[in-house]
Amino acid sequence: MSLPPLVEPAPELTRDEVNRYSRHLIIPDVGMAGQKRLKNSRVLCVGAGGLGSPALMYLAAAGVGTLGVIDFDVVDESNLQRQVIHRQSTLGLPKAESAAATVREINPLIDVVVHNTALDRDNILEIFGQYDLIVDGTDNFATRYMVNDAAVLLGKPYVWGSIYRFDGQASVFWSEHGPCYRCLYPEPPPPGMVPSCAEGGVLGVLCASIGSIQVNEAIKLLTGIGEPLVGRLMIYDALEMSYRTVKVRKDPDCPLCGENPTITELMEDYEAFCGAVSEEATLAAKESTISVHDLKSMQDRGEDIFLVDVREPNEYEIVSIPGATLIPKGEFLNGSALEKLPQDKQIVLHCKSGVRSAEALAVVKNAGFGDAVHVGGGIVAWVNQIDPSLPSY
Ligand code: ZN
Repeated sequence: MSLPPLVEPAPELTRDEVNRYSRHLIIPDVGMAGQKRLKNSRVLCVGAGGLGSPALMYLAAAGVGTLGVIDFDVVDESNLQRQVIHRQSTLGLPKAESAAATVREINPLIDVVVHNTALDRDNILEIFGQYDLIVDGTDNFATRYMVNDAAVLLGKPYVWGSIYRFDGQASVFWSEHGPCYRCLYPEPPPPGMVPSCAEGGVLGVLCASIGSIQVNEAIKLLTGIGEPLVGRLMIYDALEMSYRTVKVRKDPDCPLCGENPTITELMEDYEAFCGAVSEEATLAAKESTISVHDLKSMQDRGEDIFLVDVREPNEYEIVSIPGATLIPKGEFLNGSALEKLPQDKQIVLHCKSGVRSAEALAVVKNAGFGDAVHVGGGIVAWVNQIDPSLPSY
């Protein structure tokens, strides 16, 4: 399926622009008309992180006339392994500002619009409304569903990508011509089932593999060339080095883009919809969460506790809380962890940020360890508040 160009051509290219984009201009399918369309294009990149970095840099180099970047975060040392738009010299700066500076350095002939804010249900429609096309580089399900819903409600196409360890996926969602993200993934995964990159890691260069596919698709949509990834899901395996595509059909029962939509405006609370923590875990954690300061005091008083780190061995190797025993969360879910727990000590669970330990806590409480607790904020809070000399990740 080919689609007509999304954007009308700009009236002309300047001499500088002709010089700069000459390798595009001599490709017959792009040519002067295609480059003028890119000049007239307005593209928003949601997130200046792993996918946003290569996406913004190549969109800028390609001559997309107006490039928006939205991100609320600041550049952290742990970003630099993959977020190549940021530099050592921009550590601590807002990511949107840091990204814009690199973009201006790559191509001073385009306009960069900085949205140094978090996307939310109150601003998303207004911000998306300013652009022809969205490139989604978000890393969490709540924002992903919100981006999808806003794009469908506004009738805008967006290029989606996702990455985890060695695996990447990409597609183009445009409800006027094909499925939306909800047609492919009607429900968010159960809380705790799909680890984020912060929990599971990601091979840095995978960002470039998937981000470049996203830019490739953006350019095709803007200029109307080739076969866009509408209705197809691209699946990339960096270890096998294989790309395959599978068809994705529009779901006639999709609550958003189907025949009888039940979602006709943005949802009230996407965080709740995607439930960062399961109901059982929320319940278990309700009255059984201690702070890192509580844990420190318990240790200082010499209380007889059994501290369990439910993260993965790789994470334990990076940094651990003194005295913690490693029993990964999976062993709680399959029950094998229970026999390792002493009956005569209070069980204290922790993970990286408090999500996985809450899941494990629900299991432990169900097994009869009534006084078990977990540590809110996990080892990240421990490093920040108790021992900043330890590495974080
Ligand atoms: Zn749909």
